[in-house]
Amino acid sequence: MQNHRLYKSNRMKTYFRKKNPGAPASFLLKNLCDPEFPLYFLLRNLNWLQYEKWWKALSPRSRRVRAARIVAERVVFFSEVKRWKRMQDRENGIRPAESGGTAGSTVPEYCDKCGLCCEVASGLADFPCPCGLPERWQAIFANGLGKGHRFCPFLWEDNGSGGSTCSIYPWRSIPCRLFESDECDFFWRTPEPAGVSSEKNLLLIRRWLANLVNARKLPLASADVPAKSPEFLKLDRI
Ligand code: SF4
Repeated sequence: MQNHRLYKSNRMKTYFRKKNPGAPASFLLKNLCDPEFPLYFLLRNLNWLQYEKWWKALSPRSRRVRAARIVAERVVFFSEVKRWKRMQDRENGIRPAESGGTAGSTVPEYCDKCGLCCEVASGLADFPCPCGLPERWQAIFANGLGKGHRFCPFLWEDNGSGGSTCSIYPWRSIPCRLFESDECDFFWRTPEPAGVSSEKNLLLIRRWLANLVNARKLPLASADVPAKSPEFLKLDRI
């Protein structure tokens, strides 16, 4: 069976930090190397794109710009959710060590945190009432982060373990709550291109990404990539 293995991204995050010693304070790197940033899923995302027709039709330069945009959008949204969660935790008197996506919640026994169920660009925004999530985020859940994004905007990594965690677990949508083990089995059985999670491809795409986020080569604020406020909802879904 392919994929379905957890991939420790801590090593990759250290690699990114070392590769860019001059930019420790960079907003992009700080978030990209955060233990909860879904780096593994982002690499899988970029790998998947190589199998898609529209992506293959782009020039190498356009691919770099598009990929930079995807990375920037993911980083900006990750940081926004992280800030919001910190605020929620403060209001509820939760200490940082107890925080985290599914911390303190009951995750079903069959779940091994492969994250395949959350590798969806968007979902049905049917949230329990009252929801508690900002309305804009509900729309982002419904529409996705934009073209080229292949996993849920709220999917995070479980502290660099490569395992997944839902950053809005207590607030997640009803379809996410109804997900059952037979659907999980279905994802496990569904084949995917062997290269998507192969060590070799992940290494190649990691190198590519490292060059891409190297601020000296391609500053994310230029090349048509908004650094702070991407217009998520104006972009098409996949
Ligand atoms: S909201 Fe949470 S459970 Fe639902 S798809 Fe996104 S990450 Fe997965």
